[in-house]
Amino acid sequence: MASAPTDSSRPVFRFAPSPNGRLHLGHALSALTNEALERRFGGRLLLRIEDIDLTRCRPEFVEGIGADLEWLGIRFEPGFRRQSQHFDDYAAALAKLHQQGLIYPCFCSRQEIRNAAAAREAEAGQSWPVDPDGAPLYPGLCKGLDSGEAERRIAAGAPHVLRLDMAAAIAASGRPLSYEVFDADDVRHSVPVAPERWGDVVLARKDVPTSYHLAVTVDDASQGVSHVVRGRDLEAATDVHVLLQHLLGLPTPLYHFHRLLRDDGGQKLAKSRDSQSLGALRDDGISAAEIRRQLGFT
Ligand code: GLU
Repeated sequence: MASAPTDSSRPVFRFAPSPNGRLHLGHALSALTNEALERRFGGRLLLRIEDIDLTRCRPEFVEGIGADLEWLGIRFEPGFRRQSQHFDDYAAALAKLHQQGLIYPCFCSRQEIRNAAAAREAEAGQSWPVDPDGAPLYPGLCKGLDSGEAERRIAAGAPHVLRLDMAAAIAASGRPLSYEVFDADDVRHSVPVAPERWGDVVLARKDVPTSYHLAVTVDDASQGVSHVVRGRDLEAATDVHVLLQHLLGLPTPLYHFHRLLRDDGGQKLAKSRDSQSLGALRDDGISAAEIRRQLGFT
C-alpha cells in the first residue's frame, strides 16, 4: 500500500460538505476539528463542495456553506473544488477499473434488490447480509449478465449503475490492505480493511457518472490530501476508499475519525432530519465563539 505523502510540503486537510441543505452543528464540529488539527500540524485547509447529486444540491446551499464557514471564522485556502466540475476525472478512474475487469453494469431497481434478498433469505432460512449502513448486500443479479446482452440494454437506453466486483477487486489487490489512523499527538495505529462487508458497491449512479465512494477517492488524491478528518459515520466507508486507492494507484492518506453529535433522541444530527442549522442558531443570536466553546474548541 502506498503511504501518506511524506515530502517536505505541509500536510493537507479538507472539509468536504455536500450542498444539499444548510450546515448544522455536526458540520461545525467536523470543520472545526479539521481546523484544529491543521493548525496543530502546520498544514493547509481546503474546502471541497461534494455536489455530485445534481437534484438535491442547490446553489443557495453552496452560498450558505460559504457564509456559515466565514461566520465560524474558519480560514480555508482561497477557492474550492466542486465535484460536479470533475466528472471527466471520475470517468478516467472508471475506465481504469474497467480495463482491470473490475466493474459491471447493473440494471436492478432498489425494489428488485430487496425482493431478491428476501427470496434468498427465505430459501436459505437465514437473514441476508446487510452492509454497514444497513442496506442489503447486492445479490449479484446482473453480475453474470452476458456482455452482449448488457451492451444491447445500454444501447437501448436502459438506466443502469456501474458496480465494483468486490471479490475480484479484493483478489486484484493481492494482499490484505490497511490504513493508518492518527490522533492529535500524531500517534498512529494501523487498521486492517474489510471492504467485503459492503458487497458490490455502486461506483457510478444511474443519474450521475460517479458515486460518493469514487469521487471522494479521486478528489482526495487530486487535491493532494494527506490527512482526512471525518466523522465516525464514515469509518466503515473508508475501507472501500482504501481499496479503490490501491486499485487506482493512488496514495492512501492518514485518517482521523471524530465523534458524532447526537440529538436529544440519540440520533446522529442530519440535514434530512432538520437538525438545527448554523444559520438558525446565528439568527437566534448565538455567537460563533459560543458555538466553538460549546463544541470544545477555544
Ligand atoms: N461529503 C461527505 C458528507 O457531507 C463527507 C465527505 C468525506 O469526508 O468523505 O458527509
